[in-house]
Amino acid sequence: MSQWITVLGATGSIGSSTLDVIRRHPTRYRVYALTGFSRIDQLVSIAVEFSPKFIVVPTLAAANKAQALLASSQHECEILVGADALVDVASAKDVDMVMASIVGAAGLLPTLAAAKAGKRVLLANKEALVMAGPLFMQAIRDNGAELLPIDSEHNAIFQSLPANYRGDFSQHGIEKILLTASGGPFRNKTKAELSQVTPAQAVAHPNWSMGAKISVDSATLMNKGLELIEACFLFNCRADQVQVVVHPQSVIHSMVQYRDGSVIAELGQPDMRTPIAYGMAWPERIDAGVKHLDLFDIARLDFTEPDHETFPCLNLAKDAFERGGICPAVLNAANEIAVAAFLAEQISFLAIPELIQKVMSLCPEKLVHCLDDILAADKWAREQANSILAEFKNNKQLAGQE
Ligand code: NDP
Ligand code: MG
Repeated sequence: MSQWITVLGATGSIGSSTLDVIRRHPTRYRVYALTGFSRIDQLVSIAVEFSPKFIVVPTLAAANKAQALLASSQHECEILVGADALVDVASAKDVDMVMASIVGAAGLLPTLAAAKAGKRVLLANKEALVMAGPLFMQAIRDNGAELLPIDSEHNAIFQSLPANYRGDFSQHGIEKILLTASGGPFRNKTKAELSQVTPAQAVAHPNWSMGAKISVDSATLMNKGLELIEACFLFNCRADQVQVVVHPQSVIHSMVQYRDGSVIAELGQPDMRTPIAYGMAWPERIDAGVKHLDLFDIARLDFTEPDHETFPCLNLAKDAFERGGICPAVLNAANEIAVAAFLAEQISFLAIPELIQKVMSLCPEKLVHCLDDILAADKWAREQANSILAEFKNNKQLAGQE
């Protein structure tokens, strides 16, 4: 019997890789809904190929455009509009699994809805977990949902943990997680060199092909910071139990170190179809279209410590996790504003951590009791970040330049 999947963020990089896995297994998986945001032409063309029951677009104007495109292709599917529709297609009764691959905070509500509806949640949208870790994990447990990490590092950790792991390191003799990082496109660059880098250079990742926001996060090492928080929430551990290891080849996707000296790792190509296929088929294994790893071709693997001085975002994230409460949500929101401003060429690369650090220094210590606390923290942090951004602009300086 086929399993029904909703792909949130189907027009993105993870969305496209997910559809490629589905394309290879047309009887095993059927598409319930596909969602897009700005790339409506692409959304319609994948709708024509995969025949979902629904597509979701953000506005009526986008719906009209999609309608016209569908009519000209003589294809029918129902078009839904807006954020509530994202929640509906993530939690609908007929859906078995949801690929959560909207980028940023916009993915939180539908991803949480999938957890609350007891679906298999394929979690790529790390920002949702960073914002709402404890609430999200509780929703998974309370509703019998299955959480399969898609982020390649977390997928590797999941594969390297005992199959019966339920969130207790000591029970299984686990010492720590070794979270690998490629180091991004600016590994080994000095601060002076970083003051000049452009958005085009930042999005050109050496190993992985990804959306613009996560590519910039990789370049600042905020991606590793968000992943450190993600690992702590997913696997129920402390930040000091996660060690970041720079491994430029991205062959080892992360490791788990055990008390007896064993280190278990998952290796593979830097191709997201591997973790995606793993999450979709778990506990089975299916073809993902990924070429096999040739160790002779790779020949050597390197490991170094991260450069915290040049790339302060990793420690900003660690601090936010350790402060707890609303701090990870505030960090995430400040980062989203900073990255968007950098991509729009409003601030320099070095101003990204500067802006985030300024917002974090204003962040009150507040506990999270419910989702509204998180949404309020997200809103507050965006307002703070935008007003600091306005100051940067008023000073007519591209902050971060030395
Ligand atoms: P992309 O930018 O390629 O895709 C993002 C998707 O989200 C697109 O479908 C986009 O629609 C949609 N989207 C953007 N804004 C909104 C919004 N406000 N409301 C609804 N939908 C929206 O990103 P990636 O695929 O690279 O990343 C997706 C997520 O997966 C991120 O959280 C990222 O951190 C995570 N991830 C990605 C990896 C990768 O290799 N790419 C690896 C590990 C994690 P449209 O394009 O139509 O505008
Ligand atoms: Mg990753």
